[in-house]
Amino acid sequence: MNIDLDCHPTTEILNKYVQGSLPTGWNVVLSAHLELCQKCRHEYGDLESAEVLSWSKGPVEEVANDFSDLVSNIIQQPQHAAADTPLPQESSITEIHMLDHSFTLPRVLAKAANDGLEWKKLAGGINQAKVNIDTETQCEFIYMSPGSQTPMHRHQGNEITLVLDGSFSDASGTYEAADFVIRNSEDEHQPVSEEGCLCFAVLDSPLTFTQGLARLFNPINRFKFRKTIAHQS
Ligand SMILES: [Zn+2]
Repeated sequence: MNIDLDCHPTTEILNKYVQGSLPTGWNVVLSAHLELCQKCRHEYGDLESAEVLSWSKGPVEEVANDFSDLVSNIIQQPQHAAADTPLPQESSITEIHMLDHSFTLPRVLAKAANDGLEWKKLAGGINQAKVNIDTETQCEFIYMSPGSQTPMHRHQGNEITLVLDGSFSDASGTYEAADFVIRNSEDEHQPVSEEGCLCFAVLDSPLTFTQGLARLFNPINRFKFRKTIAHQS
């Protein structure tokens, strides 16, 4: 856990989560963070207790279970495992094998990944496996292999990155397991990972690359995002 930076969702975001006013992709990444972070679980419990909720007055653990079931019902589109997947996968996914060991996924992410993950190799040692969750967000597992680096980029909207295993760094610091990192349109960054890193990322708009050859792909990137959204709706 990163102690120098605030790597947790804000109270404002947790409040929206309690009120159910966030896109499902955000709910999934928040639910996963709550599984990994006791501090935020406590804050969530306090906010939830303060909120008048007709659908549940149970303890946080019970709410988390209910929510996982809800999310599993929402995630319907099957994903197909590619023949040349770079990472060994079990057909029923509760773990992802990387960095010479297996990492057990938070329950909500295991459900999201349960129909199989199709890993695609991107430039710079980055691997991406998209998960279709809703039409407002683009959700994906990102595996940065050891020594990898993403192109310098900026976001048109928000990007939430939940570190699951390993670590990555940018100009602001180093992020480790359970860290919840939010980037918005004012942030330009270039994540690098020395030891390798498995993340779950939620974007609410396509990336805009600002440096080097990757800039050439910006129109395509936006087109692909629209296409993905169109296929989901
Ligand atoms: Zn937290």
